[in-house]
Amino acid sequence: MTGTTPGFSQLRLDGVSRRFGSQDALAGLDLTIRTGEFIALLGPSGCGKSTALNCLAGLLPLTAGSIWQDERRVDTLPPERRGFGMVFQNYALFPHMSVRANVAFGLRMRRLPRDEIRRRTAEAIRLVRLEEHAGKLPGQLSGGQQQRVAIARAVVLEPSLVLMDEPLSNLDAKLRLEMRTEIRRLHQSLGLTTVYVTHDQEEALSLADRLVVLRAGRVQQIGSPQTLHTRPANWHVADFMGYRNLWPMRAVSPQGALVAVEADGFRLVGDPMGDVAPGDAVMAGVRPEDVRVGEPGEAATNTMPAEIEVVEYQGRELAAEARTTTGIRVHLRTDRRVAPGDAVALSIDPERLLVFPSDSDEAPS
Ligand code: ATP
Repeated sequence: MTGTTPGFSQLRLDGVSRRFGSQDALAGLDLTIRTGEFIALLGPSGCGKSTALNCLAGLLPLTAGSIWQDERRVDTLPPERRGFGMVFQNYALFPHMSVRANVAFGLRMRRLPRDEIRRRTAEAIRLVRLEEHAGKLPGQLSGGQQQRVAIARAVVLEPSLVLMDEPLSNLDAKLRLEMRTEIRRLHQSLGLTTVYVTHDQEEALSLADRLVVLRAGRVQQIGSPQTLHTRPANWHVADFMGYRNLWPMRAVSPQGALVAVEADGFRLVGDPMGDVAPGDAVMAGVRPEDVRVGEPGEAATNTMPAEIEVVEYQGRELAAEARTTTGIRVHLRTDRRVAPGDAVALSIDPERLLVFPSDSDEAPS
């Protein structure tokens, strides 16, 4: 397996849409995927991730838009003529066939010469490190091993694009982490162009070159993990990217490049993400790890007197919930040994407090 047969230099989705009755499961997805790129489609349940993947695979016809591999239109082709590989969450292995036979199946269907089938099958099995298990049936393997068979079965066909739909969701936490590394390793060594569906933001951030965040069938933001993490386009993306603190507030006045915001007579300064004018309803967001815990009485910009309410041990850090004297609930992470009932001063670097324009949607609870 060379892994260097990309088959195209870019894949373009042009206004790809899919309706079910009157519902837009996917509305006008525009995306250009470069060869070798790892793209994650990310979003909450029902946002249209699987619909997008199934449209790419050819399992679901588009209701509008088109898909192009360079100058070749592919959305009109049946799945088998697109040359894409698929890996699903339920593995979809043949239970009565050995690992080797499962991996070789697609090559047999293509009626390739025996020697080539043998060689490519062995190489794919070696790639996913299952040499010792090649003669076993899927039922004799662990979940992680079965998923590796499913991956080998897809990559053995040297697809121009690999589509993965929540491939790790049936695995336990430890295996999920191991397989994440495995997928990353395979991607890097084979340079496979990959579209990967997940609702797990950590998984997406750790695997993908670029993330596409969907919400209710619409793209919210496309960007690198770094961009999405530090500059989410709106509070929905922020919510999904781990900004667990999202407070409905009101903009008061600009402060240089920053903006002062207020709620219940309580004032903070943050970094505006978009157009925010005095008087506007806004959503102020900060990640728990960006809330600093200081001694009570400490005075600095964006300092809030608060009381610790709930503490949870998470490895070397504590995840805690505090309540400010004005009643705002704050999620935080700290390596200080705080305990419920402790009075503290919470502070937030104004650059880390992002101020988003509100929209008509409900605020998060
Ligand atoms: P999950 O993570 O739960 O799988 P998802 O983001 O993959 O969610 P989709 O499966 O793409 O979401 O579904 C998007 C929307 O389209 C949902 O509201 C879903 O109910 C609807 N939908 C999907 N498939 C069908 C179908 N065959 N018929 C009718 N509605 C559908």
